[in-house]
Amino acid sequence: MDEQCIICGKEVPDYEPEMCCSGNECGCLGVPIEPCLCSVRCGNALFDNMGKTMDERREVMGIKWIGGE
Ligand SMILES: [Zn+2]
Ligand SMILES: [Zn+2]
Repeated sequence: MDEQCIICGKEVPDYEPEMCCSGNECGCLGVPIEPCLCSVRCGNALFDNMGKTMDERREVMGIKWIGGE
């Protein structure tokens, strides 16, 4: 299964997670350095709305979740 954009849920077939490390004793917590995003717009929704929930980020940018569960 392809990775999904974390903002809108669209599949991003060419996303390749770049990991820092396994997360042991590191601030990265083992999550990819670059989050999975389908577009600049979804990137802005993520980075311009720090501290908001994902639902709020989508609402602010007028983005609908189109992914599955
Ligand atoms: Zn997206
Ligand atoms: Zn790390």
